[in-house]
Order: sequence, then structure tokens, then C-alpha cells
Amino acid sequence: MQNKPKKPTPSLKQNHGAHQDPAERRKNFKEVALGFGMEDALTEAARCLGCKNKPCELACPVNVKIPEFIDLLYKEDAGAAATKIFETSLFPAICGRVCPQETYCEAACVLKDKFGPVSIGRLERFTADYARDNGLIKPPDCAPDTGYKVACIGSGPTSLAVAAELRKLGHAVTVFEALHQFGGVLSYGIPPFRLPREVVRFEVETLRRMGVRFLKNVMAGKSITVQELKKDFDIIYIGSGAGLPSPMNTPGEDLVGVYSSNEFLTRVNLMEAFKFPVTDTPYYIGGKVVVVGGGNTAMDSARCAMRLGPDSVTLLYRRTRAEMPARAEEVENAMEEGIKFEFLTAPVELEGDEKGRLKRVKCIRMALGEPDASGRRKPVPQEGSEFYIEASSLVVAIGQSPNPVIQQTTAGLSVNKWGCIIADEATGKTSLDGVYAGGDVVRGGATVLLAMKDGKNAARAIHKALTGK
Ligand code: FAD
Repeated sequence: MQNKPKKPTPSLKQNHGAHQDPAERRKNFKEVALGFGMEDALTEAARCLGCKNKPCELACPVNVKIPEFIDLLYKEDAGAAATKIFETSLFPAICGRVCPQETYCEAACVLKDKFGPVSIGRLERFTADYARDNGLIKPPDCAPDTGYKVACIGSGPTSLAVAAELRKLGHAVTVFEALHQFGGVLSYGIPPFRLPREVVRFEVETLRRMGVRFLKNVMAGKSITVQELKKDFDIIYIGSGAGLPSPMNTPGEDLVGVYSSNEFLTRVNLMEAFKFPVTDTPYYIGGKVVVVGGGNTAMDSARCAMRLGPDSVTLLYRRTRAEMPARAEEVENAMEEGIKFEFLTAPVELEGDEKGRLKRVKCIRMALGEPDASGRRKPVPQEGSEFYIEASSLVVAIGQSPNPVIQQTTAGLSVNKWGCIIADEATGKTSLDGVYAGGDVVRGGATVLLAMKDGKNAARAIHKALTGK
């Protein structure tokens, strides 16, 4: 870059990067955030002050060496910058896209209040993409085979992190996945317009090249039990996620046209129903889609629905925008794409026609009361405020819990009242010898980065249990 700004230039305003035009993108499944080019990346990198106390790095759950990688990038050494990130984070092209930086690293940036934080997530994504596209990433070297065998159940980010770390240390790792594609929520939940599938496939392929074995269509607890796996493997790591949808328990939830977010997103994203009839999974949404919930899953469901071309998509959330757990950026994207938000609103009954198809949703307005156990103000129904919304389909996206199949078929495995496996936070050790767990099956629904962090911690503990080191 000819006129590269001299570092640091903090008073430049934060660059959020270009996005596909909302009117266009609401009709396609291509990536919404277009990412930085080299010039934007270097200019944004120049904003970093390289703070000695590294508040951004300390705020990151896996302590990515943020000022150091940004400095290397600024010096136009993207390969070294990527290597620096890889020291602590295994999948930067994924985290750069979906990690909630606004609550971690970017929230801690000293420039945040005055000029906007350094766009750390965008720089992470740029570094990882650039290094991948230019062949600057090679699979890490693996230690000589130790002879120990580890089975990972599930192929989401937590198991991928365990597999990568343990393979590097020379252990043989086999990943068992119930679905026909690998990546967990990264493949079946998060839509391709937020996380292109080739990014996930590249990470899985890298692990394969390192020697990790991937087996699909194997449902642990059904096809093979944990006890049976223990006969062939020294250690079992359970990373089976939280894929069981929570129902609303509202009358009419069994009407035709009512989906759980899991079913809806799996149909659209994993089975590519949006290409039907080129693919063989159909969908029905009709003209008026309603989505219930306020998290990332609700936002993804609403935005996927919008891309299938209905007349309207309306999102019902029982609190206000301020309490929404979804990433702020995704809420904004959803609004720009024309999704209508009904805050302080909850469905109380779903009504159908004579054929049992959803026809309309009876809603009630809420007000915020005293804080509840979660610390958020409790939504209180306002008597007499009921009203109706016409609806041809409705997606329930109000939360998930772990699928109980492994827990129910594994004697002695302790679970809590929500069905989450109880595991030591620092090591992932469960109540059973040689069995570890982490990610959403323990946390009950968290983030990609926390799932990876659990995987890394467990890998360290597993290595120690196997080798004493
Ligand atoms: P998962 O990713 O759920 O993977 C578990 C895997 O185990 C799945 O592939 C499943 O098929 C498999 N499995 C289950 N049972 C069995 C079995 N018995 N045998 C074999 N395999 C089994 N987090 C963010 O940080 N940013 C976001 O933007 C974001 N958006 C999200 C959007 C959606 C729609 C959803 C649902 C979640 C989102 N999250 C996001 C949360 C994040 O994706 C999860 O916290 C993370 O994927 C958890 O990783 P995991 O490996 O524990 O589980």
C-alpha cells in the first residue's frame, strides 16, 4: 500500500467494513459482511495503539494475542499475523465472523468511546482469509504417535478444538458425528450468509490432513454407547451440543406451519431447502412468517425466512431491544433487511384453519418488571392488551437444551436439572473416569469461543491424564 498511514492513527473512525446492500442481500444466501481488502485492513490496523496492558487480549476468552497480530499485519506479514493468532485460537476465520467481539475484545478497546474500537473481529477475519487464500497456512506439525486413542462425540467447535490440540500432541483422535456433515452449529445452524460453508470445510479438512479421523452418521448413545466406545478408546470427550429445542408450551404449537428453529435452520442451511427442487428438502413458509425469540437463533431464523421471499417476517420478543441476547450487529442487519420487530410482545395462542394450518397468532403486550434470577428485568403480561397477527408459519427460537440420548444411556454420568452434563470447568472432567465434556452440552447454549475454550482446557487435562505431562 503506497500511502499506508503511520501507526498509530487512533483518531480515524472505526471501519466496519462493507456489507452487501440490504435490498439485494435479503434475496440471497451470499455472505453479508464483505470483509476488508488489504488497504482497509492496513488502515484499520494502524489505529491500534498497541496498549502495553492489552485490555483487548485480557477480555478475549482464549486470550488471542491481539496487539501482536495486528502489529504483524500492519507490517504486511499476514502469514506471521495468522501464526500469532493460531498460538491461542484455532479457527480465526470462524471466530472473526461469529464471535461477539462487541462484548469481549472490542468492548475493552480504549478507543471505543471516542472513535469506536479497532475492528478486531474484521482484522482477525481478514488475516485468516488472506493467509488461507494465499496458502500461508499449513497444518501444524504433530508429535510422534503416542499410541493413545481419544474419541470425540460431536463435531462442533468444542470437539474440533479437542481434536486439533490432542492430534498435535501425537494422540489418535476419532470424531463421531450424528449428522452427515461436520461442524455442528457452524454447519447446520449459523446460515451461510454469516459463515460461508467453505470456511468450516477448510478447518475440518485441515484437521483431516493432520490425521484426525471423522466418522459421520454415528449417533453416540444409539449407534454405539459410551461404554462400548470405552473398550476401544482411552478417553471419551462429549461435545454433543445443545440441539434439543425448547417448546413455548402455547396452545396450537402442533399446527402445520409451526417449526422449531432447529428444524427450520437445519432444513434451510444443512439440507439447503432454499435450493429446492434442486435439493430434495422442501419447505413451507407462506406469505407471513412470525419468529419468536431474541437470540442469535431467532435472528438467523428470521433472516433465513426473509431470504425465502415471503411478504413479511415479524419477530416477537418479550423484552426490549436492550435486553436482546443476539449480537448487536446481527440485530441491526436484520432490521436493515426489513424484518419487523415487535418488542415487549409474546404469543399466547396459535390459531389454525379447518385444515390444521396456522392462521394467526394471539399476542399479548408485556412491560418490564423487577429483575429475575438472570438479572434481566422480568417481562410482565399486560392484561387486556391482547391482539392478533396473521401468520402462515411461525418459528420458535426461544432456547435449546442438550439432547438427552447420551445422558440417558450412560450410567453414572451426572447431569444437572437442565440435562447439561456436569463437568469441571477447568478440565472438563465428568463424574465418569476417562470421560470429559465441554461446550454447549455442559453450558447449555453459549458461544463458539467458549466451546473452543472448553475444548482446549479439556485437551490439556486429557494429555496430562494420558501421559502425566
Ligand atoms: P455444537 O456446535 O452444537 O455441535 C454438537 C455436534 O454434536 C452437532 O454436530 C451434533 O449433530 C452432534 N451430536 C449431538 N448428539 C450427538 C450424538 N449423540 N452422537 C454424535 N454426535 C452428536 N455463537 C457465537 O459465538 N456466535 C454466533 O453468532 C452464534 N450464532 C448462533 C446461531 C445459532 C442458530 C445457534 C443455534 C447457535 C449460535 N451460537 C453462536 C452458539 C454456538 O454456535 C454454540 O455455542 C457452539 O456451536 C457450541 O459448540 P459445541 O461444539 O458445544 O456444539
